[in-house]
Amino acid sequence: MSDRFDVVIAGAGPAGAQCARDLAQRGYDVVLLELESEDEFPRQSNKSTAGTFPSMMASFGVPDDVVMNYTDDVVLESPNHHYVQNQPGAVLEFAEFKQWLVADARKKGAEVWFDARVSRPITEDDKPVGVRYNGEEEVYGDIVVDATGPAAPLAKDLGVSDLERKKQAIGVEYEMAGIEIDHPEYADLTDSMMLRLDHDLAPGGYSWIFHTGGDEAKVGLCYIQNDSHRKHGKEGMSIDDYLQYWLDTDPRFENAERLEGKVHRGSAHIQTPGELSTDNFMAIGDTVPTIDPLWGEGIHKGMQSGRAAATTADRCLTPEDPDTSASAMAVYNKLWHSEVAPRMRERLLMTELLYLAPNSRYDKLMTDLNATEEETLAKVNAGNLGAMRNLLRLSDVPLLAKFARERFSDSR
Ligand SMILES: Cc1cc2nc3c(=O)[nH]c(=O)nc-3n(C[C@H](O)[C@H](O)[C@H](O)COP(=O)(O)OP(=O)(O)OC[C@H]3O[C@@H](n4cnc5c(N)ncnc54)[C@H](O)[C@@H]3O)c2cc1C
Repeated sequence: MSDRFDVVIAGAGPAGAQCARDLAQRGYDVVLLELESEDEFPRQSNKSTAGTFPSMMASFGVPDDVVMNYTDDVVLESPNHHYVQNQPGAVLEFAEFKQWLVADARKKGAEVWFDARVSRPITEDDKPVGVRYNGEEEVYGDIVVDATGPAAPLAKDLGVSDLERKKQAIGVEYEMAGIEIDHPEYADLTDSMMLRLDHDLAPGGYSWIFHTGGDEAKVGLCYIQNDSHRKHGKEGMSIDDYLQYWLDTDPRFENAERLEGKVHRGSAHIQTPGELSTDNFMAIGDTVPTIDPLWGEGIHKGMQSGRAAATTADRCLTPEDPDTSASAMAVYNKLWHSEVAPRMRERLLMTELLYLAPNSRYDKLMTDLNATEEETLAKVNAGNLGAMRNLLRLSDVPLLAKFARERFSDSR
């Protein structure tokens, strides 16, 4: 077994596995290290609802076999209203999707080592030249990539990651059967991904029902422990208690039951990114805050960051005299900001503003969305401040003032 590769990648999630696929396809020697065992993979890391859109499926050649349900609409709910936007999508079976990514990386020539827990970088002159795993085992590479998600052992050690605890969003979901998908008091959720803004259920965040076919769906919620969470939260309730509270109080779940063993949970950071790379090193996916802050779309973003890292590695390793210095690797930072997560600052502002708003404002937002042209939501999603201004009302002034106060106190 070789202990030297062109690129060593830690973490076989969407970001790391995609990076391995692209590099192997280009003929590089690449190894992907994953802490879980192959026969159970993914177990702990089977964490995602895995709602995605055709642009991701087409860009990365994802096969139909890993799709649980193709959806037609995205539905936004507030406590008393809803808004339906026609937007085709797909809810993936996340475990099968991850298994397919790894199998395809292997087919393209990547080595995949399971049962390999990466702990820290091996450095020479303070520059990473490989990684240590399972205690004292070592593997070397011209370039090292951290794709381990929020754990980020390599990025943290190298001072590249600055993930902040107070910016950590946590999420949990159950797969369920027996749900009344088309309940008379709510929007018809047949073949839909529904996101609900309601502080009673998910204080400082949102909850969701993603239809997976028949009377089955993925049902979950997430939030950041921000000011809004503290203000609207219920004393002593954990995230699991909130999910149970929703299941107990929403009539759509009256006859619903959890599918055994089908619980997914995890976290991601919603914050501005700091460093993304250094000498011989890049951090991708949830290791840096790549996930889209507004609605938590992390799979497509993670895979795009994996592709940007592969493009950068290709560029740095192609010359006769390869250059993997920090300044050469900074191409990745440029690609990240221009192609993976453009307008991140605006989107973070919008996210903070959205989750600070009270429930009554969410009801108004649905009314406004129903009255505006269909592209408004898409434009707001893309970080268009003009479109966002169109959705603001005079009554939002106190909300904006509160927002400004929080921003000010955050930056002190
Ligand atoms: C409840 C929930 C619902 C979500 N729903 C959606 C959704 O509907 N749509 C969407 O697009 N995104 C969703 N996301 C976000 C999405 O799942 C993540 O953004 C995405 O999985 C990030 O991919 P990644 O490859 O960066 O990291 P991960 O998926 O976290 O993969 C990291 C991999 O590294 C491995 N690893 C960790 N530590 C080590 C180590 N020390 N050594 C070796 N290997 C290691 C892990 O086992 C794992 O396989 C959701 C997330 C959660 C928690």
